[in-house]
Amino acid sequence: MKIGFIGLGNMGMPMARNLIAEGHEVTGFDLIQKSDPLVQISKLLSETVSGKEVIITMLPDGSSLLEVYSSILSELQPEAILIDCSTVDVISAKKAAGMANEKGLKALDAPVSGGIGGAENGTLTFMVGGDIAAFERVTPLFNIMGQKAVLCGESGAGQSVKICNNMILGVSMIAVCEAFVMADNLGLDRSKMFDVVSTASGSCWAINTYCPVPSVGPNTPADNNYIPGFSADLMLKDLGLAKTAAEETNSFTPLGKEAYALYENFFSKGGQGKDFSAILNFIKDS
Ligand code: NAD
Repeated sequence: MKIGFIGLGNMGMPMARNLIAEGHEVTGFDLIQKSDPLVQISKLLSETVSGKEVIITMLPDGSSLLEVYSSILSELQPEAILIDCSTVDVISAKKAAGMANEKGLKALDAPVSGGIGGAENGTLTFMVGGDIAAFERVTPLFNIMGQKAVLCGESGAGQSVKICNNMILGVSMIAVCEAFVMADNLGLDRSKMFDVVSTASGSCWAINTYCPVPSVGPNTPADNNYIPGFSADLMLKDLGLAKTAAEETNSFTPLGKEAYALYENFFSKGGQGKDFSAILNFIKDS
């Protein structure tokens, strides 16, 4: 397929490379000048999108998504499909899809889970919202960039699932860190604590796969001085999106809101740029 790829950051560039490796023709664009031995990069947004069958965006937030859609929609061929893989608020996702639909174009929100490693290895999970025919047409692309793609519902459903998932992740990481800090204070051996909890009813992804304690459990960012991985910055962003979604839908999410407040505090007191599991040390020192 002929693909325009907008937003060649930590995630977008490796995703674009994987598409090229499987024989697709990709033209990339970013606000910042980038260069890459594989990805052909254009300086013009119009050149990036014109004549393309699929446009993929991987941008920081809803406002950049709406800005890009405002500039490109009139340049697209009528059967082009837009896939937005960024994590953005649900309202912007629905608005972006609505803008595309008004021009007769199909748009999918398709945020990802799996981080930079998943983007590089082509093992992302896509949570998709939008039209089933469009989803089926671009599923081969999801299968290159990822290992799983689920159509979750109408436009905005992909972002909604992503926000719910990451609210669970933020809350469960804090719970795991609180438990390890209390275990320390109770005089427990951290590795015994891991051995029991990871196979008991307290087991969850935050402890089993992403244990926040160095030298315990699998190799994680905790074993690499908390270099991300998944940064506290991105967790704070996603918990902020969850908080907004909860307010907009009048949902009772006290733990989600507290997780946001704790990550905000951690972020402003040294957490910026660290892996989100480093909140362990913030909790220990509090
Ligand atoms: P990034 O900041 O590395 O990349 C974003 C890129 O978009 C940058 O290169 C920036 O210059 C470009 N950009 C911004 N505005 C633009 C515009 N108007 N036109 C063209 N390009 C523009 O971010 P990232 O880590 O690649 O993340 C991208 C998205 O994926 C975010 O929404 C993030 O929340 C989500 N995400 C990231 C991860 C992760 O681990 N990094 C995991 C899951 C989801």
